[in-house]
Amino acid sequence: MSGHDLFSSARKAAVLLCAGQSTRMGFDKLTRPIRGMTAIERSLDALVRGGADEIVCAVSELTRAHAEKLKAECALPMTIVEGGQTRGESVLATLRATQADVVAIHDAARCFVTPAIVRACLESAIRYGSGVAAIPVTDTTLLCEGARIEALPREKLRRTQTPQAFRRAQILGAYERAFAAGQSATDDATLFAAAGNKVRFVTGSPDNVKLTTPEDMAAAGAAPARIGWGEDMHRLCPDRKLILGGVEIPFQLGLLGHSDADVLTHALIDALLGAINAGDIGRQFPDTDERYRGISSLLLLDRTMELVHEAGFVPLHADMTVVAQKPKLAPYIPAMRERLADAMRVDESAVSVKATTTEGLGPEGRMEGIRATAVVLLAPA
Ligand code: MG
Repeated sequence: MSGHDLFSSARKAAVLLCAGQSTRMGFDKLTRPIRGMTAIERSLDALVRGGADEIVCAVSELTRAHAEKLKAECALPMTIVEGGQTRGESVLATLRATQADVVAIHDAARCFVTPAIVRACLESAIRYGSGVAAIPVTDTTLLCEGARIEALPREKLRRTQTPQAFRRAQILGAYERAFAAGQSATDDATLFAAAGNKVRFVTGSPDNVKLTTPEDMAAAGAAPARIGWGEDMHRLCPDRKLILGGVEIPFQLGLLGHSDADVLTHALIDALLGAINAGDIGRQFPDTDERYRGISSLLLLDRTMELVHEAGFVPLHADMTVVAQKPKLAPYIPAMRERLADAMRVDESAVSVKATTTEGLGPEGRMEGIRATAVVLLAPA
């Protein structure tokens, strides 16, 4: 029989494990959209396109409703079973719920698996009895036991992933024996081998990562970067200080305002607030509030950063422009960057301040006021 005939004549189930408790996340990682699709949807899509004939899905209370909805839309027959307290219990429940010849067991949290990897695992299981996605270890890996440190031979090491596909009767037998003996395993291939079966590896992918921490979710695009934009203008008048970016600049005119009227810092604050959907500086720090009279805008920036952090973001970069006909600002820009970076709790290299004139045009050109604009990019913290 050709490889193609072998593949199509075998009955192939894909086991989708969605019963983990997301204890390291603080929310259910499997049902939160990542660039428009949940981890369960992504994994299911790869299993369907990878050539499975049926899906058996182990769910928890957190994932059941979502899985039921996907079942209604799924192109393949889908069975939903109650997951167990451990991964092993969930796998056993799914293996008992199908009569397929081979099963590809897959953790829904490895949602960037490709249909090609799924298919390669299934093909290997049909032909050789098993097909376990794994990648070589490229980093030097040390075994540390007390004072003893030993570099492990990399060529003998594998990082296993899922899917892990097996002939169903053999993996079911391995699980039943292990449970009867009170053993547990987090890896199907280990149990399969312990039962006397030969494990065959299939080339996985470094992209086939398991979503484990909130950082993994962020890196996967579940909490994308944010952009914010701010603009402000203040009137120039005599008998006021000119403060820009927290730096006092000697000049015959200063800016009028309720606080220190630091127009540059105000534009930056508005950009930060915009990026976290927190309105604007007037909403957060009303000019009717006596606490803010004459206050250094750097203190307002400091408070704004608390809001940014509370919202779960950190600044990656800020770029600002001051529009002023006079005075010449170039000598003060390094100090502005330093003060603003300090208040933003970032490195100076993440803060850009530029200055321009309008060649005498408009209110800035007539020295009626000074304008500032800012754009910021925030990343999930
Ligand atoms: Mg202002």
